[in-house]
Amino acid sequence: MSHAPAHFDLPRLLQDLEASLATFEADFPLEDFKKVHYQQQPFVTLLTCCDSRVPPSMLGDTFNRVFCIENIGNQFKNGEGSVLYGLLHLHTPLMIVAGHSECGAIKAATSDYAAEPQALVRELDTVKASLQQACAGIKVELAAAAANQAKLSELNVDAQVEGLLQHPELAPLVAQKSLRIIGVEVDLHNVYGGGYGKVYTVNVNGEKDAEAIKKMSDIGGFAAKARRLP
Ligand SMILES: [Zn+2]
Repeated sequence: MSHAPAHFDLPRLLQDLEASLATFEADFPLEDFKKVHYQQQPFVTLLTCCDSRVPPSMLGDTFNRVFCIENIGNQFKNGEGSVLYGLLHLHTPLMIVAGHSECGAIKAATSDYAAEPQALVRELDTVKASLQQACAGIKVELAAAAANQAKLSELNVDAQVEGLLQHPELAPLVAQKSLRIIGVEVDLHNVYGGGYGKVYTVNVNGEKDAEAIKKMSDIGGFAAKARRLP
């Protein structure tokens, strides 16, 4: 893995961050916060990749709205406790799993990462296991599937949704419709051909057929965004 170039102007960047914090402090939505008695009350649990090009802010203002779990390759198993906290204790009615094109974690997991630090190897092992599980489901070898990284990212989202659906405490919530799980792909690189940075719905509660998702009436505009790579 490559290291970041040392061209950052750190004092300048820290100044920027300070300005951002000052804006946060100045804009703190106290009146809204009072309304929920100073409790957090997010309505969506988001599991997304750490990749800085898929920020939680893609869902708009995240303050008291988005309970966010980020890890490399957006893995349920690598953030399971936090995800369960959002779903079982904060009771968000919505869970979004977001993958993205050219995911470094997927690239790493489909190459030799044995020399990486142990903790990173552990997380990549989880990514690899997800990919293997998804590939087994469609009877394709991971090595062969690795040529199509964008498709692999879609399959990785499927594997996370599957993991959530199989969780014994989450399955009943989905069955009672008190929880909806939506898998999306953030197409940073215009792999789907619809433009750079477009977001597609690829999985809803395990449904992977884009035409079937388009007909779903209870997921708002996410239905129209249904699309999958061939
Ligand atoms: Zn990624």
